[in-house]
Amino acid sequence: MTQTTVPPSGGFVLMIVKIALVALAVEIFIMLGFYWFGVQLANWKFALLDAGLLAVIVATIAYFAFVRPKDRQIRAVMATLEEARLKAENLARFDALTGVLSRRALLEALHAEVERAKRYGSALACLMLDLDQFKTLNDTYGHQFGDKVLHRIAQVISEHCRTNDHLGRYGGEEFLVILPETRIDGAITFAERVRLAVAETCLDRKEERITVSIGVAEWRNGDGSSRRLIAEADRALLDAKAAGRNRVVTNQLV
Ligand code: GH3
Ligand code: MG
Ligand code: MG
Repeated sequence: MTQTTVPPSGGFVLMIVKIALVALAVEIFIMLGFYWFGVQLANWKFALLDAGLLAVIVATIAYFAFVRPKDRQIRAVMATLEEARLKAENLARFDALTGVLSRRALLEALHAEVERAKRYGSALACLMLDLDQFKTLNDTYGHQFGDKVLHRIAQVISEHCRTNDHLGRYGGEEFLVILPETRIDGAITFAERVRLAVAETCLDRKEERITVSIGVAEWRNGDGSSRRLIAEADRALLDAKAAGRNRVVTNQLV
């Protein structure tokens, strides 16, 4: 059964009555003051002063009674909207399962890094990683175990990243790491470190291990779009798979 809240009726009238009562009390107070000082209200100047004082006081009371609470309500609504906006932004920016960057955020970061490398002539490399025989792991232990493995491996890779590196989930069990200011030899060293760390990672089932194949590519000024960089890393990854998996491969000169 649905419940509906009935808004309190008569709130506005009650508020007006309260303001009128306060205004009356204030008016009596002013009159007493005038009487005390022997002021003649018949004098138009003092009648004007009385009306002015009354208006200021009533306006102040009305402000605190109506405008301020409304302001507070508006501010609360705005805070809720901002919170919802941040939540939506986070949902779009981060992969829900692994917590690393989403594919969209990753591609935006790569585009920005390529632009930066073009402008400053700095180095840039990227790694495409794909878990080995992941389907077998899923088929053997179920998808929930597979999900946990994805989360754990994302953590392991992220522990090896520097603050300026970008790690994201490119596809199902594929990750991409963007390494700004890094040449191919540095990227290979990093990839090898990650490969070993993944192979040594304890999973929830202690007897199980997973390995990763990694393709490495360096962006080259003159002939490099972000799309091309990814394609090169992907090709190297395919070569790593073809060569037997659990290895790091690059097709570029080191
Ligand atoms: P290879 O070594 O050649 O990469 O073999 P593979 O089994 O890892 O590759 P394949 O492309 O055959 O299988 C990838 C599997 O990843 C299949 C798919 O069910 C699984 N996968 C993709 N996304 C998710 C996910 O979010 N959670 C889980 N548990 N599995 C996923
Ligand atoms: Mg795979
Ligand atoms: Mg794959």
